[in-house]
Formats: sequence, C-alpha cells, structure tokens
Amino acid sequence: MDKRTIRILDAAYRPRAKLWDSALGESVVDENALPAADRAYLDSVGIVVNDFVTWDHDEQVGRAAKLDWRQVATAFVAGVGGSARRGLPVLDGYVWCAKLPEHSYRTIPELRACGICGANQSNTVDRTELRLRFWQGQPWSNLIGATINLAEFGTLAPITPTPEDRQVFDAMLDVLSAAPVEVSPSGAVVLLGQAKVIPKSNAGLRYRILEGLADVGVLPQPAVGLRTDLWVDVQEHSRAWATLGRSHRSDVPMPLAAWNGAHGVDRQRAAELFG
Ligand SMILES: [Zn+2]
Repeated sequence: MDKRTIRILDAAYRPRAKLWDSALGESVVDENALPAADRAYLDSVGIVVNDFVTWDHDEQVGRAAKLDWRQVATAFVAGVGGSARRGLPVLDGYVWCAKLPEHSYRTIPELRACGICGANQSNTVDRTELRLRFWQGQPWSNLIGATINLAEFGTLAPITPTPEDRQVFDAMLDVLSAAPVEVSPSGAVVLLGQAKVIPKSNAGLRYRILEGLADVGVLPQPAVGLRTDLWVDVQEHSRAWATLGRSHRSDVPMPLAAWNGAHGVDRQRAAELFG
C-alpha cells in the first residue's frame, strides 16, 4: 500500500467521518464524501473501501496461515526500526495464527467466545480498514484480524531489516533493560519516548512493540507460562489477567500486563529469536 493510498484511507476511515449502516450493523466509509480524485486514485490501485467479509469461527481457524519464524522476526525488526512499518504487526498475526491448534468453536462462560482463540462464533470486518492499520504498524489482535494480516503479508516481497533497524532494535532493548524495577508497561512506553530510540513513533506504536516483545517472552512475566510454540489459550490469558488485581490498567493485554521493570529483558531469548 503506497503513501498516497494510506493518506486517503486514513482520512476516510476516521471514526467521525464514518456513517452507521443499520442494515449491516457496522459503521462504514461515506463513499459519497470521498473527493473524486481520491476515489479515482483508489480505483487505479484496486482498493475498495467497505470491503466487508463475515467468516464464522471454523472458517477463520481453517484460513490461518503458517509462517516461518525467520520471516516474522526480520519483518518485526524492520517494523521497529521504521524502514518497513508493515512488518510490525506480523508478529501479532503469527502469535494468533501460526501455532493455532485445529479446533472447533468451544465457548467458556467468562468469555462468551471461543476459549481457545477468543473468536466469536461469527465475525464481520472491513478488510480494507484492517489492511490500512497493518500498513500503519498496528495489529488487529484477534483471529480474523491476524488471518487477514498474514494473508496480505504472504503477498508482499520479503521484508528485510536495514543495519539502522538493527541498531534501533538493540537500543530499544538497552533502554528496557535499564528500566527501574517499578516501571509498568506504560512507564516503559514513556521511557522509550524520552530516549527517542524508535524513529517516527508515537505512544500507541511503542505499546504495540512492547506487546509483541511480551508475546514472545523477550519481556518475561510470571503470570502466564509461554509454551515454546508461543500458543497460549485465550482462557489461560483471561484467568491469569484476573489474578493481577485492579491496580493494572485494564487496556493493557496479557501477557504484557503482567510485566514490569523488575522482570527485565530476556536478552538471550531476544538474541535467539531476533539475532
Ligand atoms: Zn477458537
């Protein structure tokens, strides 16, 4: 997705620019409000707004792509460094999809969703909106989002980090390793911002990076045991989260929510996974 496409879509998909479609039960892009030149440009690059799909649970599980870890690791480093922001959400997609066990929908009372993958029985999303977010470096952390993420990633040329990306990645780990023991995930986001080690990043993007590092155990935590294949059932996250108490910010997901500066950075794991 080129810069002009991202700029047009970012304006079109602003929440305040959208309309509620009661028949669809979703908010949609107001196609009549798109400037003619923008509409023509999107046509020329084959992008359709309001590209909604509805998949039931078993379709999502069946479509989950299996990627090789090296592709994911190199893309993530390039995403952190900034040479290819599209690489950043690939790790989230991998964690959701790559090792997902084959299974049928099985709900648990505390989630009202599948206890293994967290998906609803049926999900509707706008694929173009998701693709826009991936190109902006944001994951869409659920099974349908991850499935679309990896499907698109599979169509792209391999993403390779530059030497500068590697330097950014290492400098980021240095800042996190030196964080005071009482630092929370949000405190670490602030520290990274103050250190200015991640170019062109905002707090939201730095959060996404920390989530990725926690998902693969580079930011270790004691609440959820990460299996070597990285898959953890959603119900296990949900139960571990409930043990954290009310002092934790409710919008920080597991396993990042269980990390703080006292747990530090597992540099050996970082070297194994991203070196
Ligand atoms: Zn499931």
